Amino acid sequence: MNMKVLLALAAVALCPTYLRAAPAKPAIEVVVLGSGGPRAFGRAGSSFILILAGKPRILVDAGPGAFLRIGELNLDLGAVDTVLLTHLHIDHSGDLPAFFNARALTSDGSITYRIFGPDGAGLFPKTSRFVDLLVGRDGAFAYQKTFGAPESFTVRDLAINLESPRTNILDDDGLTVEETATHHGDCPSVAYRISYRGVTVVFSGDMDASALPNLVQLAKNADLLIFNCAVLDPPGSPSQLYDLHTPPRKIGEAARDSGVKSLLLSHLAPDVEGRQDAVRKSIRVSFAGPVEFARDKLRVPVVK
Ligand SMILES: [Zn+2]
Repeated sequence: MNMKVLLALAAVALCPTYLRAAPAKPAIEVVVLGSGGPRAFGRAGSSFILILAGKPRILVDAGPGAFLRIGELNLDLGAVDTVLLTHLHIDHSGDLPAFFNARALTSDGSITYRIFGPDGAGLFPKTSRFVDLLVGRDGAFAYQKTFGAPESFTVRDLAINLESPRTNILDDDGLTVEETATHHGDCPSVAYRISYRGVTVVFSGDMDASALPNLVQLAKNADLLIFNCAVLDPPGSPSQLYDLHTPPRKIGEAARDSGVKSLLLSHLAPDVEGRQDAVRKSIRVSFAGPVEFARDKLRVPVVK
């Protein structure tokens, strides 16, 4: 080893830790666990983890495959206690018990979850009943509450009428979460706006175009809008899907009208995946900001 190398090593060893350049952690980093929908074609169902100042804290939806991606990314679930469910279709909630399982097995002590999701209607239970059916006293996985760690669940059911007011559901040490009702065919659904240390990300969830006025209000001036893009512009996808999902042309208009800085398209369907150029072109008609397509395990720092 020559003298130059020795001196350099000595300098590093003697340098106080506060002088060593540590990479700045973004206030919010979004990790895409699942960028797909209900079809099995290689993408996990819809799911995201939000890392706040370097620590995973919030799970947004829990589609099938989220559990596997958490392990592949070696994510530390030790501080994840907030779960935001956009709606209760299987491709957004099927891995919820597996998440509880994984989280409990990495815990040092008891866990209190705060879970938010839509009220019930028709074939869909309200979120509190859904959680009860999974891990309540008579639930299918009643054992989970004491498996690995003692767990308790605080569940809030959110209004699903499009006329119901936008609501602030969490205000906690600089973290704020707001929600608004959306519309997804016959399935009760909501969208979320999450702000932390000056940056904001909005999740549309699955929604048809009838809910765009609510979404545009919720997403006002957000730094990142994650919009679920499951159909092509009409008539490119089966007509009944337009009662469930918003086409790219209207996603672009919503991004423009809300003044968001950037757009991430997720919940991709096989036909959307195969026509990314057409989708991007359609969005470009209205929205000039950055547009990206999600993929499983993508990490997106939310920046101003
Ligand atoms: Zn879906």
